Amino acid sequence: MSGLKMLPLLLLLHVWLSKASPVAFQPKEKKNIEVVQNYLENFYQLPKRIPITEQSEKYSTSVIVEKLKEMQRFFGLKVTGRPNEETLEMMQKPRCGVPDTGDFMLTPGNPKWRQTNLTYRIINYTPQLPHTSVEAAIEKAFNIWSGVSPLTFTKTSQGEADINIDFVERAHGDNSPFDGPNGILAHAFQPGPGLGGDAHFDAEETWTSTSENYNLFLVAAHEFGHSLGLSHSTDPGSLMYPNYAFSEPSTYSLPQDDINGIQAIYGPSDSPIQPTGPSTPTACDPRLTFDAVTTLRGEILFFKDKYFWRRHPQLRNVELNFISLFWPSLPTGIQAAYEDSYRDIVFLFKGNQYWALSGYDIQQGFPQNISNYGFPSNVRAIDAAVSHETKTYFFINNQVWRYDNERRSMEPGYPQSIASTFPGIESRVDAVFQRDNFFIFFSGPRYYAFSLNGHRVTRVDRSILWLNCR
Ligand SMILES: [Zn+2]
Ligand SMILES: [Zn+2]
Repeated sequence: MSGLKMLPLLLLLHVWLSKASPVAFQPKEKKNIEVVQNYLENFYQLPKRIPITEQSEKYSTSVIVEKLKEMQRFFGLKVTGRPNEETLEMMQKPRCGVPDTGDFMLTPGNPKWRQTNLTYRIINYTPQLPHTSVEAAIEKAFNIWSGVSPLTFTKTSQGEADINIDFVERAHGDNSPFDGPNGILAHAFQPGPGLGGDAHFDAEETWTSTSENYNLFLVAAHEFGHSLGLSHSTDPGSLMYPNYAFSEPSTYSLPQDDINGIQAIYGPSDSPIQPTGPSTPTACDPRLTFDAVTTLRGEILFFKDKYFWRRHPQLRNVELNFISLFWPSLPTGIQAAYEDSYRDIVFLFKGNQYWALSGYDIQQGFPQNISNYGFPSNVRAIDAAVSHETKTYFFINNQVWRYDNERRSMEPGYPQSIASTFPGIESRVDAVFQRDNFFIFFSGPRYYAFSLNGHRVTRVDRSILWLNCR
């Protein structure tokens, strides 16, 4: 991060913002301007503010618009050049302090270590975790990279190491001050002598070895990617994505995007079988299937692995989110979901457990066991679920069960075969939700619109149409 010298240029964000709203500034707008300027200065090389002069007004406004567009493009947002709500929301997420673009990230000649046997040294510790936990997190973070490349990492406790690990706060002598709790969590330097390769962690963050913010292993693994020469990835599922997202450390597997990145620099792993990692689902992949789908107060949520897409009726964009970002205590791989719109609750299922959401909040006392619904113990998991009026339908293999929401009991006469209850639905159901007077069934890459009035399938088409793909 040697390129942090900023050109002295003026920013007149308010001129441009006030075009949109000709009224005097509200405190909230002022705060938003701060957010936008700081973010673009920190991560998109927007020149620092200097006193206002008239000539520079026009120039600086167009610079901000261009930088904002660059940022929106990076994060896959709608490219407007304006700080709309989704942009501001993205800017307030906790993240890595290394910029997303700029010549120090994409240095000509791609910086890399010449040797593959690297050393690291933990200079100091965070008081929030025992030393052994810090050491375990750091070691595990290096193993993530050594497992997929020819690199090895050896801990030293004295002398000069390639990668120094330090917990520091605020200004700490490298021209990239930390900002206290949240915001910037850590940063690291690309390979090289001196500061090169070093990783700094904001000592004012709460560091954990759990799902609570912020998991040290996950942040360290990301930072070491920089220490090895990687820059930020636009793949939201990759480790090198700039924003923090929780993933369960005990089952963590380095995503394919990051494997490709590190192998592009250092070549393949020495192991006889090349490791592979999970790929981020893409909305318009025609093979895409869903784990579960439900409505939630007018939105539609499509669950897949550790992600969900959120489709808002008024918005054209369908946004991909991490389950863990909204509900840190939920597992990945949700298998079924339905909305009880009378009680305004969404239920999510995995295995024999279920959770209740009110809006986006998980209710107290969950998870609970699906035996509460009256399922026998040989029912271990639910494929799909949907609620209509006072009944809830549960789909398990080729059978459907019907539950009475008011009497809170399973209805007699069930399970029945899906094909007899819903003619035209012949194969196993992955997901289902209700819309108008239809059940929309998903099976493999197709959906089936089943009319509740006509009691038949009226349309079969590709599932990805629901994510606004063509
Ligand atoms: Zn980073
Ligand atoms: Zn630093």
